[in-house]
Amino acid sequence: MNSSRTKLIFLGTGTPNPDPKHLGASIIILVDETPYPVDFGAGLVRQAASLTSRYGGSIEVLKIKNLKTAFLTHMHSDHTVGYPDLILTPWVMGRDTPLEVYGPDGIEEMTVNLLEAYRDDIKYRLYGLEPANNKGWRVNAHEIKEGVIYEDEKVKVEAFLVKHGTWPNAYGFRFTTPDKVIVISGDTAPCENIIKYSQGADILVHEVYSQKGFEKKDEFWQKYHVINHTSTHELAKIAKKTIPKLLVLYHVLYWGCRDGDILDEMAQFYDGKVVVSADLQVHE
Ligand SMILES: [Zn+2]
Ligand SMILES: [Zn+2]
Repeated sequence: MNSSRTKLIFLGTGTPNPDPKHLGASIIILVDETPYPVDFGAGLVRQAASLTSRYGGSIEVLKIKNLKTAFLTHMHSDHTVGYPDLILTPWVMGRDTPLEVYGPDGIEEMTVNLLEAYRDDIKYRLYGLEPANNKGWRVNAHEIKEGVIYEDEKVKVEAFLVKHGTWPNAYGFRFTTPDKVIVISGDTAPCENIIKYSQGADILVHEVYSQKGFEKKDEFWQKYHVINHTSTHELAKIAKKTIPKLLVLYHVLYWGCRDGDILDEMAQFYDGKVVVSADLQVHE
């Protein structure tokens, strides 16, 4: 049998907490030779590079100049602080086409402001002695609505609105490739759209927080997390309604727990296949 054409790669699996073992939230869906990054947490470019042979890895197509088409779930900083890195570093390393970015309202303004912030660097590289090309620093930012937001011969990407506190436009994504359906929840509290768009998924990548840790939080933070994020127990209920072949826990708020504790909490209410994501983990 052919090996799988689609790989799910976790560059960073963290949250706003600056945990050195969990870099900023960022995933790559790799279809054949084409990488599609989702979210731009701190460290994503170096993590992608670390999987190439130059730095000891074996996934050559993750050469960072190949990062050309990217998707953003929402505008929270833990998903966007790597954005200037994704714009500029691949260009410096030879990307010679504009970056195409698909994200919520606000992505266009953020892009304009970032390019303005880095104006002097861009000018220096273009008009100094460096042989930089005049295309790769440019960005075409596409503001998305619910529905099909991108399609090429490898992939169809559907965006769906999720319930992330008071963000007016936080999205999850459903990727349909030649051999897989992968759904990424984005940051969200439980919502109907997750259940609707996860039907038939091979892999559901879902954010989660520890129920046990939550019970130790003060009332103020509990109130925040209930409307912004999803507990293990809530996710178990969602998984029962969607039955993905594989559920991958991502963007985990551990609050003192370990992977095993998180999986135990899930197993109390769900007996399907569940794993916890880790930085640089690859699923085929
Ligand atoms: Zn987040
Ligand atoms: Zn968020």
